Amino acid sequence: MRVRVVGAGVVGLTSALRLAQAGHEVDVVAATTGDGTTSSIAAALWYPYRAYPEADVTRWSATTYQVLCGLAADPSAGVLIRPGRELFRQPAPDPWWRDAVPELGRVAAGRLPAGYVDGYELSVPVVDMAMHLAWLLGRLEATGVAVRTGRLDSLAGAFEGVDAVVNCTGLGSRELVDDQSLTPVRGQVIVVAQVGLTEWLLDQNDPGRLLYVVPRSDTVLLGGTAEEGDEDLDIRPTTAADILRRCVELVPALDGARVIGHRVGLRPGRPAVRLETEFTDRGPVVHCYGHGGAGVTLSYGCAEDVAELVSELP
Ligand SMILES: Cc1cc2nc3c(=O)[nH]c(=O)nc-3n(C[C@H](O)[C@H](O)[C@H](O)COP(=O)(O)OP(=O)(O)OC[C@H]3O[C@@H](n4cnc5c(N)ncnc54)[C@H](O)[C@@H]3O)c2cc1C
Repeated sequence: MRVRVVGAGVVGLTSALRLAQAGHEVDVVAATTGDGTTSSIAAALWYPYRAYPEADVTRWSATTYQVLCGLAADPSAGVLIRPGRELFRQPAPDPWWRDAVPELGRVAAGRLPAGYVDGYELSVPVVDMAMHLAWLLGRLEATGVAVRTGRLDSLAGAFEGVDAVVNCTGLGSRELVDDQSLTPVRGQVIVVAQVGLTEWLLDQNDPGRLLYVVPRSDTVLLGGTAEEGDEDLDIRPTTAADILRRCVELVPALDGARVIGHRVGLRPGRPAVRLETEFTDRGPVVHCYGHGGAGVTLSYGCAEDVAELVSELP
């Protein structure tokens, strides 16, 4: 089939790659690529977060976990497998996504920082998104998939010369397909230079005021926030100061770390990821958007389902 993918974030590019690998003739059109996407701002720790429904998210996350672990062998893909801890101020049951990872332990009492009473301990993929998006674009080019820039006003306009369209426009689907169930969830983060960290840390005890430290190879990403319905893309200095203060409190080695930059992105929040086929007047559309705070975590798993839905088209 001739398939056009709309969107060049992690969801669009992984879908395009899987479709091309399945033998379809694929191209990609997107308003923005690389640095201009929300995907480039992601932490991007493999972690199911603010994405639903739980059973599908667990399945998609499990597939992505395996794929990213395999990609860690390729240094150009920007994937590292890092040990880390999620910390709790109250005793916590096993996470609902427990089956997505091969191993999940409990943090021993001696390794719980002051104020925390419980914790998960596990190794997960950490993705340097600048590297990984570039790697995906390179793989697509090598597979013969053209990626061009262009903003669409409607999906009907995407059908020229193709049999099917795959909609991976993230929050853009609010306007593109008038999906009012999408909600922006603002996230502000800080990128600092490495200070020798290898372990990630996460504290989501306060849902709006997250705390995470995610070490890549040369940089460490510090977060964060999760502000529902807030679309302000400006950096807020008071928020940045608060993030830095809380991260240093948890990881004193970060004190004085060189700040490389600040970023803000809007997670495409939705009550459930939309991954389904819609038969329109112009032709079939496979929708794949609304991955909330876990687009990287779900990407390769969702891409498998996209390829399967396209292969089932009449
Ligand atoms: C601060 C922050 C931290 C995060 N941390 C993590 C994390 O640790 N782990 C994780 O898994 N996830 C994380 N996320 C979430 C993750 O970034 C998103 O879920 C993911 O980027 C969604 O990917 P996407 O490809 O659907 O959307 P996007 O990356 O937004 O891509 C959408 C694409 O569609 C295009 N588009 C939109 N509208 C149109 C149109 N009308 N015409 C043409 N093209 C259009 C855009 O230009 C873009 O190319 C984080 C997000 C933020 C903001």
